Amino acid sequence: MGHMVACQCGWTLVSPLGSDDVLAHISLHVRTHHSGLKVSESELREKIHPI
Ligand SMILES: [Zn+2]
Repeated sequence: MGHMVACQCGWTLVSPLGSDDVLAHISLHVRTHHSGLKVSESELREKIHPI
């Protein structure tokens, strides 16, 4: 059991540590790989799904 997130670029992450951990990773990914993209925290949370 865990949470996963998939970025539009194909980057995906699965974490057993919960949605907050996934959110931390996707936030870092967007900042470093899509620095021109303006995405709010709530928009990022919508991408996170329990698996
Ligand atoms: Zn990406």
